[in-house]
Amino acid sequence: MFVNTLALSDVLLQFIYSPQIKARFAEVQLVLGCGDLPYYYLEYIISSLDVPLYFVRGNHANLVEHTVAGPRKKPWGAVDLHRRVVNHQGLLLAGVEGSLRYREGPFQYSQAEMWSHVLSMVPTLLLNRAVHGRYLDVFISHAPPWGIHDQPDRAHQGIKAFRWLVRVFRPRYHFHGHIHIYKPDTVKETLFHQTRVINAYGYMEMHLEPAPVKNAPLAFLRRDGGSRGHVREEASPSPLNQGKGSA
Ligand SMILES: [Zn+2]
Repeated sequence: MFVNTLALSDVLLQFIYSPQIKARFAEVQLVLGCGDLPYYYLEYIISSLDVPLYFVRGNHANLVEHTVAGPRKKPWGAVDLHRRVVNHQGLLLAGVEGSLRYREGPFQYSQAEMWSHVLSMVPTLLLNRAVHGRYLDVFISHAPPWGIHDQPDRAHQGIKAFRWLVRVFRPRYHFHGHIHIYKPDTVKETLFHQTRVINAYGYMEMHLEPAPVKNAPLAFLRRDGGSRGHVREEASPSPLNQGKGSA
């Protein structure tokens, strides 16, 4: 299973915010917003491509955005992934908003608060492992993980809890924003353990696939009955699944 995905962050791109988007991204099935993008931009993308959009807010998000269409506390039609773990058609997603606190204002957190965001998702990640055979496929955040693509100034330091999450729960992808790219030789992608850590500054179009599946003792709890999007597991069923199949 591949999901053709458009990840976005930090800058509004005119060729995306225009009627060209329909032809340019006609194959896109899923959009991920990694923060610091106007809500009206995300709404335009949702209505133009007519595909699901999951997002987290960046440190420059407004509590209320005033547009010609009226006030918005979030982009209409989008799913806020902050502190949430969701199963999107077999792709396991999770997200955390904001950056490290460096001034007054919303959507900024201490390292300790970021730990609490990450730890709040752990029970669902463990349940994913039991039911789906893996913890997580895609983690999105605004800030980068500690020590990966981050910068020494306080505003752009990485988040220690994200680094821990990626190392322990091994999503296949971690998309982040917040780190603006001005030079062509800036590193945009880093392999950290089994995770491709990707700076989605601007846009990034990719085919995503779920993380490798291990034995899933509670696989029978899956709402899809294991018939969709779990090709690897079906190719090499666990002893438990074999027992269930022959019963
Ligand atoms: Zn930012």
